[in-house]
Amino acid sequence: MFQLQESIISHNTDACIMFYSHQKVLLASKHKKEQAIAQPFWEKLSCTLCVHDFDTDQFGTFTGEIPRSHTPYETCLLKAKTAALHHGYHLVVASEGSFGRDPWNPFVATDHEWMLFIDMKRNWVISEQLVSMKTNYGMMTIDQHTDISDFLSQVQFPSHALTLQNVSNHAVIAKGIHDEDTLEKVLAIAFKTQAQLLLGTDMRAMFNPTRMGVLRELAEQLVVRIARYCACCHAPGFGFKSTQGRLSCADCGAPTSFYKEEVWGCIQCDYQEYRGRKDGLLKVDPTYCHCCNP
Ligand SMILES: [Zn+2]
Ligand SMILES: [Zn+2]
Repeated sequence: MFQLQESIISHNTDACIMFYSHQKVLLASKHKKEQAIAQPFWEKLSCTLCVHDFDTDQFGTFTGEIPRSHTPYETCLLKAKTAALHHGYHLVVASEGSFGRDPWNPFVATDHEWMLFIDMKRNWVISEQLVSMKTNYGMMTIDQHTDISDFLSQVQFPSHALTLQNVSNHAVIAKGIHDEDTLEKVLAIAFKTQAQLLLGTDMRAMFNPTRMGVLRELAEQLVVRIARYCACCHAPGFGFKSTQGRLSCADCGAPTSFYKEEVWGCIQCDYQEYRGRKDGLLKVDPTYCHCCNP
């Protein structure tokens, strides 16, 4: 196991800021994510982000031309490590998003983002994730007579770009559509051969300011974690790992589906800390109790 030198650690909480400061970190992306990530890395860690042209599409695309065969976390890890080896960096950051519907409310779209920082020399992976409802994610099947004006305003076109796909095989006809003229032209051409089309939001960061904002939020979260280190072995990246326990119903005391506390852990040793819920909840309203409100 890797142990930081005592002299590097000192006893202040900025030890690993010192540890990574003034180092170059590779960003594995070709979607201008540096706009969201560079500043937090500089301000919190004094790290300079280096962006190299790296085709991340080989690991799958949102529009499905190249299918994603791994989970988003695995894809992110693979992408980051491949890029680091290719460009000769030992520090690398990458992110990966997936979009869908909230399982509890199918009318609400969600953006689930992972962001990873990897120290290749020590084989440390520090990761954070964020599930945000701040997203314009959406798509609709249209024909020549469909009124798309509501959809366009709902997905914030043209500040947010669109994609156009075949309904049958999801083949991409156009993406990065961010002005009305282009949209009209591609629709006119596509409807010559297709009766129906799939009009959707372009989720690539540089075409989607809302997603860029979520990535910024996640980057802030990640740098805070990188700068927080284990009280036992002093490795950086100490933070949330899982949840445990069940909160009980305020009325009948039965256990509910609400977790009790957060488990924070180290990326290197087994040291853990237990923290209360972020929302401070100690008992659950009977409305959510399976006994009181079956
Ligand atoms: Zn109850
Ligand atoms: Zn530790």
